[in-house]
Amino acid sequence: MKVHIITVGDEILIGQTIDTNSAWMGQQLNLIGAEVVEITTVADEYHSILSGIKKGLENADIVLTTGGLGPTKDDITKKTIADFFEEGMTFHEETFRRLSKLFAKFGINVLEAHKEQCFMPNNATIINNDMGTAPGMWFEHGKKVMVSMPGVPYEMKWLMENGVIPRLKEKFTSQPIVHRTIMTAGTGESRLAKEIEDLEENLPDYIKLAFLPSLGTVKLRLTARGDDEAKLNEELEVLKAQFIERIDKYVYGFDDEKLEEALGKILKEKGLTLGTAESCTGGYIAHRLTSISGSSAYFWGSVVSYDNSVKMNSLNVKTATLETHGAVSEQTVKEMVAGAISSLGVDVAIATSGIMGPTGGTDEKPVGTIWVAVGNKSEVKTHMLSLTKSRSKNIEYTGNFALNFLRKFILEQ
Ligand code: ATP
Repeated sequence: MKVHIITVGDEILIGQTIDTNSAWMGQQLNLIGAEVVEITTVADEYHSILSGIKKGLENADIVLTTGGLGPTKDDITKKTIADFFEEGMTFHEETFRRLSKLFAKFGINVLEAHKEQCFMPNNATIINNDMGTAPGMWFEHGKKVMVSMPGVPYEMKWLMENGVIPRLKEKFTSQPIVHRTIMTAGTGESRLAKEIEDLEENLPDYIKLAFLPSLGTVKLRLTARGDDEAKLNEELEVLKAQFIERIDKYVYGFDDEKLEEALGKILKEKGLTLGTAESCTGGYIAHRLTSISGSSAYFWGSVVSYDNSVKMNSLNVKTATLETHGAVSEQTVKEMVAGAISSLGVDVAIATSGIMGPTGGTDEKPVGTIWVAVGNKSEVKTHMLSLTKSRSKNIEYTGNFALNFLRKFILEQ
């Protein structure tokens, strides 16, 4: 199953839109055992799209395109596809009915441009798009397949998950493919690899292990292919247990679970409430915690204490502490944890204070010096990070570290 992805859009070529569609599609296709052989971006222009399609169908079994299907006049992808297949266009009644219904719901009149959107190449099989107006289109070309989807990421994702991937699996996958994903935090890819070196070496050739590192976390994914799906699942369960036993202290979850979700589960289980006192992360940790549905059960609030006055007035950090040790210090984050616990009335708290860069560093405290503290009323633990990345990456890394630091702190209690 070789795939060529084509993203259509001038805005991608000029760097105004970052092509996240291909990255996401690549990940999903990899999960079903498809191999992405090329990703191409082409302009919203007839000849560019046409040569992209020709090359794609020479290169691969499947061509997936995103973008260029909207009601604006530069959206010529559909016309180009029809010409490529030497097909005319027909008005697709069902799509028109769906659009009219959708617009009526929002009190919008159907415009000529919307009607235009309902003309489809004659050979297209329409995949309804529940997330937007432009449907997906599936074409068969000999043994090959081409699918055209809108560019809006959430529409493309919905179509891929609900229409395209199930159809591709049915048409192309001959062998079952199964996965197990283990989420880890608190150590790097190399150390993790060292600890499981022998397990990895002993894997049979139909089972592969992939290390997928992010900032402060590493995802381990076991992928098995073969004819007997039940047997593969059994084998992967045994292997998963062996891997977990070996690297237990780093495992925080499975199947793309986020650290904030894993921490939330533990807080809920233990009946604990959490607050954050954030200087250098500016509420980022609170944002991540509140992005989890149901987090109000355990997350109570945050004091974004960027200025020293807020550290003193809202968190009771002592003036003497700030004067003697500075805002970026172990003593300050310790007092911030105590302050958050008492002012927010929570059981446990996270505090951060540091220099995220690129400016603000000194010889004594260079950019990337970040103090993190976690604790409860009777105990506070601290750690100093020395980070070397960009401002946004330093913030993300600190967020991951702090969430995992508290997770471990609670489990050790
Ligand atoms: P529309 O109905 O909005 O016109 P469309 O299928 O014509 O949909 P485009 O106009 O190409 O799609 O893109 C719509 C929006 O989707 C873009 O403004 C951009 O924000 C986003 N988008 C398009 N392609 C990509 C991509 N490859 N990666 C990420 N975002 C994209």
